[in-house]
Amino acid sequence: MRHARGQSLPDWLALRTGNLGVFPDGVAYPTSTGDVRDLLTYAKEAEAFIIPYGGGTSVVGHITPEERGNPVLTIDMGRMNRLLSLDKESQIATFGAGAAGPDIEAQLRAQGYTLGHFPQSFEFSTLGGWVATRSSGQQSLRYGRIEHLFAGGQLEAPAGTLEIPPFPASAAGPDMREMVLGSEGRLGILTDVKLRVTPLPEWERFHVVFFPDWQTAVAAVRSAAQARIPLSMLRLGSSVETETQLTFAGHERLIALFERLLSWRGIRVEKCMLMFGVTGTRVQCRTALKQALQICKRNKGVHTGTYMGRKWAQSRFLAPYLRNSLWEKGYAVDTLETATNWQSVDQMVNAIESALSGVLESEGERIHVFTHLSHLYPQGSSIYTSYIFRVGKTYEETLARWQRLKMAASKVIVANGGTISHQHGIGVDHAPYLVTEKGPLGIATIETLCRQFDPNGMMNPGKLLRSFPLPGNKIQ
Ligand SMILES: Cc1cc2nc3c(=O)[nH]c(=O)nc-3n(C[C@H](O)[C@H](O)[C@H](O)COP(=O)(O)OP(=O)(O)OC[C@H]3O[C@@H](n4cnc5c(N)ncnc54)[C@H](O)[C@@H]3O)c2cc1C
Repeated sequence: MRHARGQSLPDWLALRTGNLGVFPDGVAYPTSTGDVRDLLTYAKEAEAFIIPYGGGTSVVGHITPEERGNPVLTIDMGRMNRLLSLDKESQIATFGAGAAGPDIEAQLRAQGYTLGHFPQSFEFSTLGGWVATRSSGQQSLRYGRIEHLFAGGQLEAPAGTLEIPPFPASAAGPDMREMVLGSEGRLGILTDVKLRVTPLPEWERFHVVFFPDWQTAVAAVRSAAQARIPLSMLRLGSSVETETQLTFAGHERLIALFERLLSWRGIRVEKCMLMFGVTGTRVQCRTALKQALQICKRNKGVHTGTYMGRKWAQSRFLAPYLRNSLWEKGYAVDTLETATNWQSVDQMVNAIESALSGVLESEGERIHVFTHLSHLYPQGSSIYTSYIFRVGKTYEETLARWQRLKMAASKVIVANGGTISHQHGIGVDHAPYLVTEKGPLGIATIETLCRQFDPNGMMNPGKLLRSFPLPGNKIQ
């Protein structure tokens, strides 16, 4: 049952209500590359589909088996979780691809290093999953997205073994790393992954600044990103998100007092909260902090120090558990994300929020929608929207509400020229929108790549590409 579903809202509803649908017919736990090869051979003989499984934290249906007539074998990589080697001179670590966030950081920290990849699913998600979905961590501004950290490794495919050597850089034609990144289990199984690691930072602090409104706040973070100040994180909440977060924080009296103090400095109801991280040597942090605060001040920001940042750091992976408490109160919560150029950020935020707000109006339902920008680039930003809606009377009703909300937001994202995913990947939920982004030739190219690695179409069917193998097709 635990391998039948991931962590998307439909998955979560299914798990809560027992409407699980299709199960894998078997779950295997390889402990070596040899085991993985044997499993590929076995699956071919048994005419089974294979689903590579990391931590099962997919939020877009990556690991859910589909009814296609053949048996399904899920391959859980969780036992291949060791640090296999650490080249301190080149700062390259090799890990088993099933290593989850805590496995990685504990083994690296023992030797004075960090990977610095902290998605909010850090506790459970794995290296293989990160690479296969093009994941992004909370401090990607300093450490980079997984595509910057992924230096190479080994992939076992039905058609053979692909070894990707870890060059610092290469001009030798198209990059095989790029083909494996985002492959969502369609090409084969990553067995080990080579990573670019960093010595542990000497100093790290998370600062909070409040801005009077969204426009000034966005101007400030865009300037900071474009000035390439070496911050480790920038996370800007809209006024609704800021208010929601302050409410969820509890401590009603303390927050009221804090808001009164802010209002004396001109920060009132439309306030937007920015959190930024400084990470590195003390000298680097001091310089980055000074530069960032100068920009904030120029944009009417009020610096409130590191207390809230410290609290955030202590509970940075806990927010998703609120989903359970909200459910008990009769509410479902989901999130979605995109990225677009600065020119369109504002328009995109408005379009997504108004699309979501209006979807259930005919049913008399109101949706609580709020947004933050959390991965910022000189060119543009990711946009991350959360929405809370009332649970329906039945599983089907709640699922139907979610489907309408998700479809409305996804259509608006592609219509406004945003990517259908900045960090969660495609899976099943985003697959219908991929062609808008890649074009027919792009889709055909990805299909050809899949066929080359997996000629019989046995790897994770229906994910990323709906077209190959055709729904209901049996393995040839
Ligand atoms: C609460 C929550 C917060 C999240 N926050 C973030 C976030 O901040 N940033 C972010 O990027 N994502 C986030 N996600 C999404 C999710 O964690 C990522 O997509 C993650 O990369 C999935 O990793 P996983 O190991 O759990 O993979 P799984 O969910 O097990 O699998 C995902 C895909 O990867 C493939 N795969 C897994 N392992 C391998 C392997 N060894 N070889 C080949 N293919 C493989 C699977 O077949 C599948 O297609 C969040 C999810 C949740 C539930």
